[in-house]
Amino acid sequence: MEVLTDIAAVRAFVGPRRRAGERVGFVPTMGFLHDGHLSLMRAARSEAGAGVVIASIFVNPTQFGPNEDFTRYPRDEAGDLAKCRDAGCDAVFLPPVSVMYPEGHRTTIHVDALTGPLCGASRPGHFDGVCTVVAKLFGIVGCDVALFGEKDYQQLAVLRQMTRDLDLPVEVVGHPIVREPDGLAMSSRNVYLSADERAQALTLSRGLAAARAAWATGERHARVLEAAALAVVRTAPLADVDYIEVRDARDLGPVDTAARDVVLALAVRFGRTRLIDNTVLRV
Ligand code: AMP
Repeated sequence: MEVLTDIAAVRAFVGPRRRAGERVGFVPTMGFLHDGHLSLMRAARSEAGAGVVIASIFVNPTQFGPNEDFTRYPRDEAGDLAKCRDAGCDAVFLPPVSVMYPEGHRTTIHVDALTGPLCGASRPGHFDGVCTVVAKLFGIVGCDVALFGEKDYQQLAVLRQMTRDLDLPVEVVGHPIVREPDGLAMSSRNVYLSADERAQALTLSRGLAAARAAWATGERHARVLEAAALAVVRTAPLADVDYIEVRDARDLGPVDTAARDVVLALAVRFGRTRLIDNTVLRV
């Protein structure tokens, strides 16, 4: 497995393989890898048909707000590289910040509408940072297909929109949420949780399950589905709810009564740790 830190090296690695007709799969990450990330790397080959798989590990400063966890975001370069190798990556791009944002970098990509609600409302500028770095990574890697987790449901929707709007020649593929055996969605940020917070964080997946159960009995009122999830999350004394919202699964528009697929998305803080999770409710 090649470890690449500059743009020319990535192009020298990918270019000849692409010209030889190989399908290039790409998995962007911020590192501190877990099974959610690794499932994307494996799926790049097994499901998305990539002959060459390249991952990136870059904690992107532009997607963090001034009071967010950029400086303390967990990192484990040696461990991550070993995991990428095990997951079958052919190369990993590990750029320093100066390679991604050299002096004089002036461009930001903003996707309208989809970035307004949910995490866009509580993390101003977050998706601009995500879009900018992903567009740059697409340009650097020259991938045919890129895989993203449905754990970050809004991010996936925003990146699909960006890729379409900018006519980027990349197929964007979503992958299901990978969970711990007890239901907690895997996240690099779970490492921040104290034992109490970790135990109470189970109310997130259980709240989503309660709403799913209501949906299964025919409940279609968005406010009722949200209340079903909220009631469970509220049983956790340490939970500080940012949002629990039903939105249109495609355009994330507001929903009153669900007539087509919706997503129930939530963000909840435990101390300084903000966790997100979601479930898609299909008609
Ligand atoms: P991150 O390192 O948090 O930026 O995540 C990198 C990629 O892994 C994104 O596409 C995430 O949606 C995806 N991802 C993170 N956690 C999970 C998970 N639990 N299940 C599936 N995909 C995930």
